[in-house]
Amino acid sequence: MNPRPRPGFPARLDRPAETPARAARTVAPVAPRSGAMLAPAAGERPRPQPAALTPQGLGLDSQAVRLAMVQKLAAQGIKDVRVLEAMGRVERHRFVDTALATQAYEDTSLPIGLGQTISKPNVVARMAELLLAGRTATMGRVLEIGTGCGYQAAVLSLLVKEVYSIERLRGLHEKARENLRTLRLPNVHLLFGDGMAGFAQGAPYAGIIAAAGGEAVPPAWIEQLAVGGRLVAPVARAAGAGQALLVLDKTASGVQHTLLEAVHFVPLKSGIA
Ligand code: SAH
Repeated sequence: MNPRPRPGFPARLDRPAETPARAARTVAPVAPRSGAMLAPAAGERPRPQPAALTPQGLGLDSQAVRLAMVQKLAAQGIKDVRVLEAMGRVERHRFVDTALATQAYEDTSLPIGLGQTISKPNVVARMAELLLAGRTATMGRVLEIGTGCGYQAAVLSLLVKEVYSIERLRGLHEKARENLRTLRLPNVHLLFGDGMAGFAQGAPYAGIIAAAGGEAVPPAWIEQLAVGGRLVAPVARAAGAGQALLVLDKTASGVQHTLLEAVHFVPLKSGIA
């Protein structure tokens, strides 16, 4: 089904947690490897796929599978064609375990290991659409908190100039690096660390997007957001009332909050593991 090897990943899950002192944040370059996992953009010639990387039997590398997902996203209300096209280009089935690959284009979150989940396609598209809303120029640098398996980072990489994505679980950081290596995405920078503190070295960010929800938006995120920038994140509503999607715009005169629909994200946690 998916013969792409994932060297070392399961073994690394059992490694003892690093101490904070040893685990200084590292930027992991996503070095290109042979093969490409991005479907061609409209008007682009299909890129050659090495035979060894072509999954057999599921038909999941067929563009038609993603097109059906994109049509569903459009029917659900996603309108931004840039987002729809990016969703159509990233092969989501490559980011989940082969046992779950047949569900990759359903509108469902799926386990990615270590108790975490890849967000539903609809949520990934919705957050990207909110991030870009009202902008025609390509957005500059974006910080993603919660790399997980790297899927959303891959989608964002097609929509903005640069993506910095931080993950607190080393096992997932490494899994994302492995997943993304086969893509040629020089504008994605993977970081291992506690995203509660943001990533000051990359600031200011035109956009910040969080894939994990806390009680409130950490002050560091607002500090690291550029004036004119936008943050999209799940946050807790009143005690016991679940999470809602927050859009925060930073302007010269302060920050504007807009609370939108209810969402269900994994919790934002502090520290690394
Ligand atoms: N965007 C991801 C979704 C992963 S789920 C994808 O496409 O797969 C959210 C992730 O946020 C989890 O992997 C979790 O470990 C991570 N996370 C939670 N708190 C964090 C923090 N403080 N810093 C960095 N990552 C965090």
